[in-house]
Amino acid sequence: MKAVRFHEFGGPEVLKYEDVPDPQLRKDQVLVRVRACAMNHLDLWVRKGLPGVKLPHISGSDIAGEVLETGEYISGITQGQRVIVAPMHYCGHCRFCLAGLQNQCREFTVIGNAVDGGNCELIAVRQDQVIPIPDRLSFEEASAVPLVFLTAYHMMVTRAQIRPGQTVLVLGANSGVGMAAIQLGKLFNARVIATAGNDEKMRRARELGADEVINHYQQKISEEVKRITSNQMADIVVEHVGQATWGESMKSLKLGGTIVTCGATTGPKAEFDIRFLFARQLSFLGSYMGTMGELHEVLGHVFAGRLKGIVDSTFPLSEARAAHERMEKSEMFGKIVLKP
Ligand SMILES: [Zn+2]
Repeated sequence: MKAVRFHEFGGPEVLKYEDVPDPQLRKDQVLVRVRACAMNHLDLWVRKGLPGVKLPHISGSDIAGEVLETGEYISGITQGQRVIVAPMHYCGHCRFCLAGLQNQCREFTVIGNAVDGGNCELIAVRQDQVIPIPDRLSFEEASAVPLVFLTAYHMMVTRAQIRPGQTVLVLGANSGVGMAAIQLGKLFNARVIATAGNDEKMRRARELGADEVINHYQQKISEEVKRITSNQMADIVVEHVGQATWGESMKSLKLGGTIVTCGATTGPKAEFDIRFLFARQLSFLGSYMGTMGELHEVLGHVFAGRLKGIVDSTFPLSEARAAHERMEKSEMFGKIVLKP
């Protein structure tokens, strides 16, 4: 089959579109023909070099395609079924997996991170890792959903326990997690304040449902939250930006408020006054991906049309380098999708 691999870490130029051996289908696996694979920032970090990534490597976490072949032990799914591949790898038999806490499994990793991903024509996975999708959902749109919606769902619903009527501040509306978080905030009847970096991205954030949008380059986030909420401030801040915004995120919280974070794009170090944390009774929560149960829940909303993956652009898989260059420049609003 064809795949995009890299044999050394580096810039977009290390990506090679080349022939690789087809995956060998085990009796307990299904073989999926990849029709669309959406990019995430993770693809760039993996390409630049992350611990645990073995070379040569195939990236790509968000896969939609159709079942091409099923192993001898497989029942309940047939050839031609359109599916999403869950963007995670887990053992499936440890006590965490059996408790439905796949993201606490010792083997847990994102597909395309410590294991090969979907920037290729064929992938073999266990049956529990594929989820059928409705016919009216295109492969491109389906591939735009799993990783970021699962991440945002685990952050907001499971970790921060969002409730109707709350005020949620979503940083970086143009990021994948930001787009998912705005929609989830509205699904849970919260008031959503988002931040974005220019007029066009602010307009798009409003289109997704944000009630208010702050320009995070021209305005001070906490002061705007204060003005918008008439001093009430936010119940929940959805963080993934890290060092550049942590101070503002803290200042934007009301008494008893919660920051939930899944990333540190601008840097990993944050400094804060511990007295501020306890006196204001704040919660700082970490979140990483989510569980299979949560993935099924959030996809239920996508299949019912209540949540929507946003596609920025599509590239043939052979032009993965151009797709990476587009992502490096942060030109996109929505997912960049590669099509084998
Ligand atoms: Zn496990």
